[in-house]
Amino acid sequence: MGLAAALTGEVVRLDRGLPLVQLEGGQQVRCEHATDLVKDGALRAVVGDIVRVERPEGHDCGVICEILPRRNQLVRKDPSERAVPQVLAANFDVVVVAQPLSQVNARRLERELVLAFETGAEVAVVLTKADLAEDESAVDQVRESVRARVGAEVPTLVVSDQDSRGVESLRAVLAPNKTAVLVGRSGVGKSSLINLLVGEDVQATGSVREGDGKGRHTTVSRQIVEIPGGGRVMDMPGVRGLGVWEAEAGIDAAFADIQEFAAQCRFRDCTHQAEPGCAVRAAVEAGLVSPQRLESYLGLRQEVNTLRERKEQARRRKGEKHSTTKKRKR
Ligand code: GDP
Ligand code: ZN
Repeated sequence: MGLAAALTGEVVRLDRGLPLVQLEGGQQVRCEHATDLVKDGALRAVVGDIVRVERPEGHDCGVICEILPRRNQLVRKDPSERAVPQVLAANFDVVVVAQPLSQVNARRLERELVLAFETGAEVAVVLTKADLAEDESAVDQVRESVRARVGAEVPTLVVSDQDSRGVESLRAVLAPNKTAVLVGRSGVGKSSLINLLVGEDVQATGSVREGDGKGRHTTVSRQIVEIPGGGRVMDMPGVRGLGVWEAEAGIDAAFADIQEFAAQCRFRDCTHQAEPGCAVRAAVEAGLVSPQRLESYLGLRQEVNTLRERKEQARRRKGEKHSTTKKRKR
């Protein structure tokens, strides 16, 4: 490998794990990871990563030799059975969570908000396909109920591909030059929204892109799209499962109402299940918190705890293996 000086660039696209890096001069180069970097299997570049790239002579590909520390990252549990994290995007300013206005899935929204808050970035919600709502009052009603859930400090926008006003409000969230990660289940209208922001069809929409056959999802790539007039959007198609990963802070932020009541429980370590003097259960009984919401909260906390235990077990097993490989190898 030639010893050419490394260049700095940003991962602007990821296709089947292969990063496309935009170098400082604007040139884009397909990259591989240096073997040293991925030896332990842990660190791989994701969209938004700032990386150092070497260009070995006579190669078309660049080699990523370093991933610079991330300002923040969007993480979920790896969708496989293993208790490992999967980073979806790095170095962004705002997470935009999309839900279809007429079919808000409260459970999924809770998860999306937990993951979004956990990043420490700003959070916004867009309710899509507003044109499918029955009338204006239906739109207002959903917007208000979502706003009540996510909190007043989170912008809750309403958009439709039939009406440019909502898209302009999203443009304002991206201004003057923020990078947003767009999350939301397949079909919610993410690509349509990006096309509206860009003003032309840069993303394929609808069923042409994502079939339900498993294999076709591998063609889905994550990328950064520049918005004319300011801002960029990181598109995250094909992100289905949203298992939480080390998300205590995210859970607390997404369930701030419950957190507030919890501060008044008699026991500091109250689990809000059967303890006397539980202010959270009292709030549920008083109709201030819905039982489903408490159930989600407890379920997500449980999910995080279970993962932590599995991680701990895996670590112990690994330690055992290392110290006894010779004796116990079968
Ligand atoms: P994605 O999977 O989240 O990227 O969703 P798409 O942008 O591909 O949209 C899924 C389907 O919903 C497509 O058939 C779009 O034409 C349709 N769609 C997207 N936005 C709207 C909208 O505002 N109103 C209506 N009625 N349909 C929309
Ligand atoms: Zn309690």
